Amino acid sequence: MNENKTTIIPRSQHCISRKQIDTDTLKVLHRLHRHGYKGYLVGGSVRDLLLGRQPKDFDIGTDATPNQIRKLFRNSFLVGRRFRLAHIRFAGNKVIEVATFRRHPKEDELPDNPDDHFHFVQNVFGSPGEDAARRDFTINALFYNIADFSVIDYLGGVEDLSRKQLRMIGDPQIRFIEDPVRMLRAVEFSARLNFTIEADIYSAIKEHKELLATAAPARVREEIMELFRHKISGPVLKHCRELEMLPHLLAGYPGTDESIELLAKIDQRTATGTPIEESFAIAALYLRLFMDSCPPSPKTNFSTALHQANEIIVSHCRYFSIASGIRHQARELLIGCFRLARGRGFKAEKRFLQHPLTPNALELFTLWAKVRPEFAPRAENWSKAIHSSSIETNTPHQPRKRFRKKKPRKNSA
Ligand code: ATP
Ligand code: MG
Repeated sequence: MNENKTTIIPRSQHCISRKQIDTDTLKVLHRLHRHGYKGYLVGGSVRDLLLGRQPKDFDIGTDATPNQIRKLFRNSFLVGRRFRLAHIRFAGNKVIEVATFRRHPKEDELPDNPDDHFHFVQNVFGSPGEDAARRDFTINALFYNIADFSVIDYLGGVEDLSRKQLRMIGDPQIRFIEDPVRMLRAVEFSARLNFTIEADIYSAIKEHKELLATAAPARVREEIMELFRHKISGPVLKHCRELEMLPHLLAGYPGTDESIELLAKIDQRTATGTPIEESFAIAALYLRLFMDSCPPSPKTNFSTALHQANEIIVSHCRYFSIASGIRHQARELLIGCFRLARGRGFKAEKRFLQHPLTPNALELFTLWAKVRPEFAPRAENWSKAIHSSSIETNTPHQPRKRFRKKKPRKNSA
């Protein structure tokens, strides 16, 4: 990496003020600096502050080793088996993450066993410039230096921010082979920030999209949930579908236009402040596929729906190692939507109306009815039924009269 290109932007020439930085984060930065270490704000927070956005969290980079950080902060502890970093605890369960600058190791430094590479690569300490170079995009590799309040730009990230351009650090062909999840992150950041993706990223995605299937499912799962939390699951997965990435992300499932439309409705719901649950997100992803496999008509019996819901959800949850509680809820949501779509007047309706997951299923079904308006009257009708059923349930409980069967008297003859 050519460190001569490094630009230091003094305080007078950028917009980041200490007032915008969380006070506990500032305390940690200042303490590192007072003890002779580098204290930098790193990653997404610098990017967001420069864009005038509120950062989700503030991460710190330093040249102090994990053990030195541990000694410096009484309220700290070291975490991570793979990536050793320090967590510094503050009141109210608040945690600030401090990581030592890393670098990408040279080929001849790698351990003999390829299985050990990932762990090794994550844990070789380096200089701040080397740390910037191992990150994904230029806009994610900016540092804010507490020593003089300057922004350090090793790779041209500030210019890319102003051009609204997403540029990979290094050759995307190599960086995607190194870590395929970066392909999803490229699409994610372009949607989040409304940035243009550079042409070389697109061509590398075209070439290497299949590699997504080799990424650790736990990481893909986390990154997909990030899309839902950021309310961009609709546009990102739509773009991933256009780029033919989706089947490689979702264990072979190519998605459908309608399922993507439904995700956009879910993003709107999350934007109104309803937190997104993973079971809801999974059920939404597969609702269209499920409905196709067991059309909600009186001809389709309930056991077929149960079987189909199980097949679809179990295969997703097995691939992503998702806990049984979430799996159960996702399946119940699909089955609930099946019942709602079939209409009222079935045998166990009263019990269904009072089931704790039914309002959730109705929420999903109501969003689905926005994609498929022919279901809208049905959703409306169910909403009224659930409402009056809950009023009925909340009325004071009347003890039921019990009629005891008379026991036959002994020796009655
Ligand atoms: P957010 O607002 O979602 O937290 P972020 O940019 O902070 O955005 P994180 O996923 O929290 O994103 O990652 C923190 C930083 O770590 C990124 O800014 C980037 O520099 C680096 N990073 C994360 N994932 C990768 C990756 N797969 N490859 C290289 N660098 C990465
Ligand atoms: Mg972050």
